[in-house]
Amino acid sequence: MTTTLDPARLTPSRLADGLLSALGAREDRSRGFGRSAGSPLPGAVPLLGGAPSPDALPLEAIRLAAAHLTADPQALVSTLQYSAPSGITPLREWIARREGVDPARVLVTNGAFHGLSLVFDALLDRGDRIVVEDPTYPLIFRDLQHHEPELLPLPLGPDGLDIDSLEARLEDGARPKLLYTVPDFHNPTGLVTPAAQRERLVALAEHYGFVIVSDNAYDGLAFPGVDVPADYSPDSDLVVHVRTFSKILGPGLRLGYLVLPTWLVAPVTRLRANQDQHSSVPVQAIVERVVGAGDRPPIQGGLDGIAERSRTLYADRFDLVTGLLDAALPGGVSVEHRTGGIFLWARIEDEGIDLAAAQHLARTRFGTDAVLGRFFFLEDSADDRGRLRLGISHLDADGLRDGVDRLVAALTAPEARR
Ligand code: PMP
Repeated sequence: MTTTLDPARLTPSRLADGLLSALGAREDRSRGFGRSAGSPLPGAVPLLGGAPSPDALPLEAIRLAAAHLTADPQALVSTLQYSAPSGITPLREWIARREGVDPARVLVTNGAFHGLSLVFDALLDRGDRIVVEDPTYPLIFRDLQHHEPELLPLPLGPDGLDIDSLEARLEDGARPKLLYTVPDFHNPTGLVTPAAQRERLVALAEHYGFVIVSDNAYDGLAFPGVDVPADYSPDSDLVVHVRTFSKILGPGLRLGYLVLPTWLVAPVTRLRANQDQHSSVPVQAIVERVVGAGDRPPIQGGLDGIAERSRTLYADRFDLVTGLLDAALPGGVSVEHRTGGIFLWARIEDEGIDLAAAQHLARTRFGTDAVLGRFFFLEDSADDRGRLRLGISHLDADGLRDGVDRLVAALTAPEARR
């Protein structure tokens, strides 16, 4: 809609009313984490955060890679020029070898969110049906809401996806366009989808013709000793892999990639080229050097070597928090999936505790925070009220002890009882 603007009265809100597109004007109806509007108490120790630990970031590897790049004027000049939409060749070839696919199927993105957004743009028309794990990572709805999809929740229990219920709905005629899943160290539950469920899902996708969008943002972060089954087969024409360097090398790099089935390569690449042309070339060149693409040796063990440190650190922090909760509230907290990643999905067993009230106290009186489980659920479930997601990555052992003490104080405060 265009309205005539009176130049004498160009207030910001009139400009917004007159000029914003429907999309620009649309209120954000995505589900966030219900963060409080107020600022945290001074000295607060929140158990939040989906970012890597500062202690795990590969500072020296990034410094060495940047020094190597900047010492070579010719290489540096080429990183300052425009480049190909799909990414720089040595990095794409390294990714392709790792994924066991043709490099033509790899598109370097600005992280997992960007990859997801491109795939959603390429596939979804308004009102299309998509299957989403329930609970799921709610920030994908920030992007998905633009497509106004119809959501088909797929219950995720302690043993994984309820594929029988999906199959029944498909047999009844439900025709989703895509299924969004976080297969490894699921955010928030920590679940690793069992191999048999992955195989069944691919068979259903191939039978009914929907795309499995596998968001493997925590790839490589298995706790030591935890086995992860083979990923959704990249040989299927109905599987898209979304990966990111965010959780191991650092989210500020904004670098990740898609592995696309052949039929999706051209449309997704075109959308990407029309949008921002390509990812930052200096960043790609630094990551290329860290991981050891081309004939260069990796720096500090490359991606897997760097991940190794994170895996041990996060496993130790996960165990520390589990132990502290158990000691403070014996039998009062259970944790199902000790697998990998950077979150702990806790069930508070005492139904007399009102978690929303406890969280309010945690924020306003005790100086900590955690995300209420209900923000991750699409449908009401018996489970959603008793859950908290704790971020374990960014605090050291003393910080975690302090944060857990404060959380326990909030959970056990008389005002937190129903
Ligand atoms: N997917 C999931 C499941 C995530 O947890 C996150 C980060 N919290 C992302 C995607 C976003 O990753 P990136 O920073 O690479 O965009």
